Amino acid sequence: MNAEICELTKNNIDSDAIKRAGEIIKNGGLVVFPTETVYGLGGDGLNPLSSKKIYAAKGRPSDNPLIVHISDIKDIDKIAVDIPKTFYVLAEEFWPGPLTMILKASDNVPRETTGGLDTVAVRFPSHPIAKAFIEAAGSYIAAPSANLSGRPSPTKSSHVIEDLSDRVDMILTCDDIEIGLESTIVDLTAEKPMILRPGFITKEMLEEVLGEVQVDPTLMDANCTARPKAPGMRYRHYAPKGDMILYKGSVQWVKEEIVKATNKAIGEGHKCGIMTAHEDYDYYRDNLPFDEEKLVIVDLGSISNMEAIASNVYKALRYFDTVKADIISSEYFDRHGLGEAVMNRLLKAAGHHIIEEVL
Ligand code: AMP
Ligand code: MG
Repeated sequence: MNAEICELTKNNIDSDAIKRAGEIIKNGGLVVFPTETVYGLGGDGLNPLSSKKIYAAKGRPSDNPLIVHISDIKDIDKIAVDIPKTFYVLAEEFWPGPLTMILKASDNVPRETTGGLDTVAVRFPSHPIAKAFIEAAGSYIAAPSANLSGRPSPTKSSHVIEDLSDRVDMILTCDDIEIGLESTIVDLTAEKPMILRPGFITKEMLEEVLGEVQVDPTLMDANCTARPKAPGMRYRHYAPKGDMILYKGSVQWVKEEIVKATNKAIGEGHKCGIMTAHEDYDYYRDNLPFDEEKLVIVDLGSISNMEAIASNVYKALRYFDTVKADIISSEYFDRHGLGEAVMNRLLKAAGHHIIEEVL
């Protein structure tokens, strides 16, 4: 199968392409589409065969459930039951947008879509192409991120084409993807709302409207032996092909250690990568060889602009693969606010390999 690729922009949504995409979904096919978080790999969320196809296309374990995307909050009653008041409070505040809510699933939703669970993850994305596509499909779109399982989530059309062009029917492209990290997931089925995956909507933002919000303890502590409540958080994920190490400590110590380790690795013949905040970029440039064959340095953006850093993380991880970096050193960022989501992804990418300053 070779996917039809359609380039769209937010201001120029080709209605014929959207119509064709809708038809593909109605016929049980798969369409990749842009959202404000990352690209999604969509199928008909109410068709068990479509969900099976999604797992096969991604190489994803079938116990890792999909998120069901809607384009009108009124449709929630068709997907979920026993909906708590907190759902409506959060939907009013954050939808359409990068927030996924876990609710009790209605019988309409096949267990293939929910990975066998009796709960369902629901999101109403704000990207205009996603909205137009869901409407054209006349159903609800089950979609995980549009990457091969284990690879970093795609935030550029080139990422999707590389991973999936021979595994789906159509790819709708639009690289105007503002956030660049997957949605925040919050579970509303327990007594207290609980964050299962950190994202752009932070704990602080949720608490402002809900009061106390809990966090799945497995997110905070790599040594926690409990099972994460979002099955997807169990798997090694977001990983570049090279070995990644995070350096945590004072700014000066981190810079010096990364320079030392990188020089050593280059001397041993490795191709190195560095992920840095903008503020430290010049230090690495000035203290390491300027040779793209041996070293690439990615400036993620200013430390004072976590949104920029968040939106560049996956692009950077994929870039290291493109240039075949086999040792990647990254700075460790402050976990406050959106920093929590960034560090969650970086810790997974590094398999929790941290070198920490001893004080
Ligand atoms: P993705 O956005 O591709 O990473 O996939 C969706 C994420 O949502 C995965 O981490 C799933 O484990 C999680 N998820 C989907 N449905 C549920 C559910 N019913 N309960 C808990 N987590 C879920
Ligand atoms: Mg994913």
